[in-house]
Amino acid sequence: MQQRVVVVGAGIAGLVAAHDLTRAGRSVLVLEATDVVGGKLRRAEVAGITVDVGAEAMVHRRPEGVELAGSLGLDLVHPTAATSRVWTRGALRPLPRTLMGAPLDLAQLAAGGILGADGLQRARQEPELPATDIGANDISVGDLVDVRYGAEVTDRLVEPLLGGVYAGHARAISVRAAVPQLLTLAEHGSITVQAGAAPPASATGPVFAGVPGGMWQLPAALRAALESGGSAAVRTGVRVTGLRRTEGGFEVTATDATGHAWREDAGAVVVATPAPAASRLLVDLAPEASAMLAQVEYASPVVVTFAFRAADPGVRAALDVGASGLLVPPVDRRRIKAATFSFAKWDWVRAAGAAGDEELLVLRTSLGRSGDAAALQVPDEELVAAAIADLELATGLRATPVDHRVQRWGGGLPQYAVGHLDLVAAIRREIERVPGLAVGGAAYDGVGIPACIGSGHRAAERVLAAR
Ligand SMILES: Cc1cc2nc3c(=O)[nH]c(=O)nc-3n(C[C@H](O)[C@H](O)[C@H](O)COP(=O)(O)OP(=O)(O)OC[C@H]3O[C@@H](n4cnc5c(N)ncnc54)[C@H](O)[C@@H]3O)c2cc1C
Repeated sequence: MQQRVVVVGAGIAGLVAAHDLTRAGRSVLVLEATDVVGGKLRRAEVAGITVDVGAEAMVHRRPEGVELAGSLGLDLVHPTAATSRVWTRGALRPLPRTLMGAPLDLAQLAAGGILGADGLQRARQEPELPATDIGANDISVGDLVDVRYGAEVTDRLVEPLLGGVYAGHARAISVRAAVPQLLTLAEHGSITVQAGAAPPASATGPVFAGVPGGMWQLPAALRAALESGGSAAVRTGVRVTGLRRTEGGFEVTATDATGHAWREDAGAVVVATPAPAASRLLVDLAPEASAMLAQVEYASPVVVTFAFRAADPGVRAALDVGASGLLVPPVDRRRIKAATFSFAKWDWVRAAGAAGDEELLVLRTSLGRSGDAAALQVPDEELVAAAIADLELATGLRATPVDHRVQRWGGGLPQYAVGHLDLVAAIRREIERVPGLAVGGAAYDGVGIPACIGSGHRAAERVLAAR
């Protein structure tokens, strides 16, 4: 009889791998260090309303998330027509059409006032520039955009947009790993000219989707599916501390919250943790991969969610203005890097806020980019005060929230540095030398939910191929 597979980490990638493996007839044990499944897909209550305090949307144009939600019987909804603003140069300004901050419509860019006169003049040269050829090399997104549009576009548009996804720095993140389409366009000539010739975004359907009630339901439904199937167990509060090769497969050691040590034999192992934990766990099994995983840096953002009373003076006028939120370029030196007006972005959040005795507007702010960890080592109340002060400055809001919730995401988002694709290829080569070992998760092939789901599928395929 085949020994069971141990999956380390019950984030979306680990749960997907476990789900695929059970559906292929394998027995699976999922071990999760915290007391909840889902990893960065997590819920919390703010003023009695359950919302996401981690990931809150996913790209709809990739198939993995849509297919998974469908197979679990979860509905998908799309954000409202509310649009994002850029809080820069002292005002909230409409976000022009961009590809991760690279402007696709220069007239729209000019109208929005995001750039100063010099920056705009430089950006307007982009259509005249020759193609940018970097050969087989990699380059940061910011460095590519600097070449095409000038530094102000990077500073005021690319930084806030990339900051929203990676909490990282545009001039450090790999274009090949993060926005390969941008490089492909630049290699063929002007980005703006080619974008002008492309079909409008509306032709290819909504960009984002969410689950009404919250994205946290994806891992919750996966856990339910695993536990109802009879061939999988999910144990939370169990931290895996070591992996060792044995004659028949692997020996997994772990400790639970009471300090009780576990030992478990496994025929195969899927390590679906963030890179620092994967690096520690693979130190004996795949030392080279372990060393390379240790090179992947992480940003540790903080999400502060608020509920405001809609009837309080000025609240609606400040917040309910058709914006889905705001992005903040680091050059403007604010404490928040973004705010999502969840009540305006998602109809289900607005409805949940309106269901009680008094209407509440729920929104979230995020603070902290890569390298800011020290600045975030302050009491929660200081972060809350900083977020409220920035909201006041940006929107004119003058109100006290009825509730707030601080969620710190230590080691939240891997930073795909220049050369990340080569690093991941080298890590995978080393992992493949160990039969029955697979890895998955945000450190490898994309940080977004669909990419993490895809890496969970890939990890399961690898285990099944090793039969
Ligand atoms: C604040 C924030 C907002 C985001 N927003 C979005 C969004 O809107 N849309 C989007 O597509 N993506 C978003 N992302 C990114 C996305 O949510 C994550 O990249 C993705 O969920 C990561 O999934 P994962 O399975 O790779 O890892 P994780 O979710 O990190 O799960 C790994 C799990 O492994 C566990 N673990 C670690 N070490 C051990 C150990 N030794 N033993 C046992 N268990 C262990 C951890 O506790 C964790 O539960 C966001 C990320 C953050 C931080």
